[in-house]
Order: sequence, then C-alpha cells, then structure tokens
Amino acid sequence: MIVKTFSLLPSTFSLPSMTTTILSTTIGRFAPSPTGPLHLGSLVTALGSYLLARQGGGQWLLRIEDLDTPRVIPGVADDMLRTLEILGFQWDGEVLWQSRRGEVYAAALERLLDQGSAYPCGCSRAEIARIATAPHSGDEGPAYPGLCRNGLPSGKIARSVRVRVSDEPICFQDGLLGEICQDLAATGGDFVIKRADGLFAYQLAVVVDDAESGVNQVVRGADLLSSTPRQIHLQRLFGYTEPDYFHLPLVTDPDGTKLSKRDNAVSLAASRDLEREGHLLLFDSLHFLGQNPPLFLRDASCAEILSWAVAHFSLDAVPRMPGPFPLHS
Ligand code: GLU
Repeated sequence: MIVKTFSLLPSTFSLPSMTTTILSTTIGRFAPSPTGPLHLGSLVTALGSYLLARQGGGQWLLRIEDLDTPRVIPGVADDMLRTLEILGFQWDGEVLWQSRRGEVYAAALERLLDQGSAYPCGCSRAEIARIATAPHSGDEGPAYPGLCRNGLPSGKIARSVRVRVSDEPICFQDGLLGEICQDLAATGGDFVIKRADGLFAYQLAVVVDDAESGVNQVVRGADLLSSTPRQIHLQRLFGYTEPDYFHLPLVTDPDGTKLSKRDNAVSLAASRDLEREGHLLLFDSLHFLGQNPPLFLRDASCAEILSWAVAHFSLDAVPRMPGPFPLHS
C-alpha cells in the first residue's frame, strides 16, 4: 500500500517571476529554533528569506521558536541574535519569542476544539506503532489509526490533542520546487497539535504566529517541506490566508551526506571568528544560493554584501537540489 504520495519532483509549472509575486507588502521571516547553534543551513535560510523579503521592499521578521523547552539550549537564542547582528542582518520590529505566547496558542487550540476540527487523544506513540500495520516513511511515523477520532474510548485518558485531516490531498505551488502534493490521511493521519507533555506543537505555533504577524512569504529549508501541507491544512481550518512558500536546498557535506555538527556550526560558540570571517560566510552563502557576487565583494563588509545581494538577487539562479557549501569560494 502506498502511504506516502508526497513528491519532491517539481511539476511542469513555470517559476513565478519576481516582479509578479513580490509586492511591496511582502512580510517574510526567519524562525530559528534555539535547540542548537546556528548552522550553515540556517545561515542560508536566513539569507534567502532576507533577500526575498527585502528585494520586494518588504519586511523581514525574526521569531525565536523556543517552544520545545526541554530541547532549548540556554544561551543559544542570544548567540543566534548576536550572530545575525554581526552578519549585518536587520530585522523589523521586536523579536517574537514563542515561549511567551502560550495563551495565544491555547486560544487557537480552543477554536479548533470548538469547531470539532480537533479532539483529545489518549494514545501513546508506542500504542500507535503497535497498531499501525502500514509501512511508513518520512518524519511522520505511522499514520494515526484514528482510535480516538470519535471520542475517547472508555478507559483512555486524554494525553494530547489531534487535528482531523481529510483524505483530499493538500497541494501548493512552491516558488522553487513547483507543485507539491501530500495526502495527509495516508502519511501521518490526524496529527498532534498539543503534545502529551503539555507543549503546543510546532505545526500549530508556526501557523498561528505567521498569520498573526502578517507573514505572507515563508522561505525555509527543504527539510520542512513535509510540514508545509499540515500547516496549510491548519491555515484552512482557521481561515487564514496561505503564504507563498519557497523551500531552499539543504546544505550537505562534499560527498552529499548530512553535514556533521562541527562542520555545520556557524555559531560564535563554535569558535569561528565571525567578526573577521562573517563577510566570507555571507559571500559563500550567496554562491550556495546560485548567486554570482563580483569578486571584489569578498573583501566588502557584511552590510555591503547584503545590500549588493538585495539589489541583485535572482530566484531563478537558486539551485533546486541539495549541495555542499562552497567554503571560501
Ligand atoms: N524553527 C524551525 C527550524 O529552526 C523553522 C520553522 C519554520 O521556518 O517554519 O527548523
């Protein structure tokens, strides 16, 4: 049985031209999780989201996704802000901290419960894995078999809250990858929006925050591509406008495998001298994004590199496939 219909293959859709999609009202954002230091992939995401937003004269917001408190590493968020500052990034408005927004997420969850789109679930992960017979792939685990869909079976105690999905595939046009479709019922089934440990799930928080901040352009790494259909499903349930999506290629090591933590870290904590080398990292990130900065910019300041890049950014030049980071090109 095919349980994953999600495809990474671009369809024959033509790429939108920057002049038609990016209006002056663009609101983009960068939303790192302080569960580990900024890495080369996050730097590429910060840069890509910054350039796409700023190129249209739009805003670029910063949100710290410190919701998963057990995984948050103390000091990392401040280190991230400092790193971004040294690299010349300027964000609009105040930084939004997810850990301070519990009441907002609680109200959103209540809305979904009230409209019958969400329900309490008493199943543990181990139980679901035992029951699920279908093979599965991806990060969603086995599809939730729906045991609590029609009310908690007797003897079960509510642990989490799940949102209902339908078996209509969710499709969207990614600004880089073309049409992406995912059948949520077959891939993960009804998914968790409040976890058994009482924390609100990433999928819920990100959708509520983007909508409340007026974000209409989401640029992030392709590792989050499989989350996007779930987020669009939530947006539709809430009646929110769907943002434009752009999923950037992932950074690999030179042989195409996942980067080691050490090679990947951009953090000050990783003893990179960002004051001295930051401009080179930006220059290299532009190359990774397929841009062609003039050689003299290698010796320019971070601010000069960013302002050149805003003026010259070409979405069409961004690679669609993962690749290694061209250190000091
Ligand atoms: N916090 C997520 C991460 O660091 C990104 C979330 C998003 O961009 O939607 O991977």
